[in-house]
Amino acid sequence: MENFSFVSRKLIEWYEANKRLLPWRDLFDPYKIWVSEIILQQTRVAQGLEYYNRFIERFPDVKTLADADEQEVLKYWQGLGYYSRARNLHFAAKTVMDKHQGVFPKSYEEVLKLKGIGDYTAAAIVSFSWNMPYPVVDGNVFRFLSRLFAIAEPIDTGKGKKYFTALTGELMDTSRAGLFNQALMEFGALQCIPASPDCTVCPFDANCLAYADRSVSRYPVKQNKTKTKDLYLYYFHIHDSDHLYIKERNEKGIWQNLFEFPLIESDVPLTFEQLSRKPQFREWFQEGSAYDFKQIVEKRKHVLSHRVLYVDFYKVYVEKGLKNRSGLTKISTKELNKYPVHRLMQYYLEEKFEI
Ligand code: SF4
Repeated sequence: MENFSFVSRKLIEWYEANKRLLPWRDLFDPYKIWVSEIILQQTRVAQGLEYYNRFIERFPDVKTLADADEQEVLKYWQGLGYYSRARNLHFAAKTVMDKHQGVFPKSYEEVLKLKGIGDYTAAAIVSFSWNMPYPVVDGNVFRFLSRLFAIAEPIDTGKGKKYFTALTGELMDTSRAGLFNQALMEFGALQCIPASPDCTVCPFDANCLAYADRSVSRYPVKQNKTKTKDLYLYYFHIHDSDHLYIKERNEKGIWQNLFEFPLIESDVPLTFEQLSRKPQFREWFQEGSAYDFKQIVEKRKHVLSHRVLYVDFYKVYVEKGLKNRSGLTKISTKELNKYPVHRLMQYYLEEKFEI
């Protein structure tokens, strides 16, 4: 390979002059680095910052987190979405306490075995904490390197990931592995951004093949488009003057162990008439009783990575409570804020959905 040591040198110079001052920067504490990396998966830095500070204040070390109740951990995560990240964080904290005597394992392979930690997070933890030469390869890195070297290899295949990981490893200044990785990620986040980067102020303007070729927007190359599926959710906010009904989601998935109102799910849109013929509906709302249904939210679109949700909320006043609760929990309205709820519920409760 040609001598590409200029990449590492220029990146680190740029980083020292331009890096954002963030609370998890320049730390060598693997626990805090781990928490910040998990929060920042799928979350923008501006939003993640507030969550990170609150989380670390309540759970300052791995022991405090391991000792906490899962429901409380989820409560601190509420609003970030992708709750499996919080559940895995909690589970892995217990593993560190039980299997590693409370000391974060100082080995890439052992870190990788912890639940919820993949190649990327493991590389970030060991390189930032102990300067171990494992390359971090995320969307920012794919974008920058594919443009710099005009690489047409798709980034969303196993082969592409291996290619970019090997390339990052070759470009790395191993004596400053942690600094190099952080510089690479920050450069992709701030300078070589997805849409219209300002190449005129880039330290690689004279080296970047995509810029020279005026083909920046063509990189990175992707092979597959994610297929999404539509799902229709009908929620019922059933209440009397000071109680309401909720249910814990037990099914595996991103909202596991979170609470929500009684729900009917469907792959196709339903009219109210069709909804009222569903068995669950008939169980909750028995014939012969009078119910007052008010539609508060209608077909609000909510996009997840593999699903597009269309959400309806009905408010239903029941004067004497439901005759048949079938799996629902009746709680006082004041108690609701003790239960972790998912984002759709949060939007509804904070009246962020428009009618
Ligand atoms: S010149 Fe433009 S496309 Fe190339 S690395 Fe710099 S910002 Fe990215």
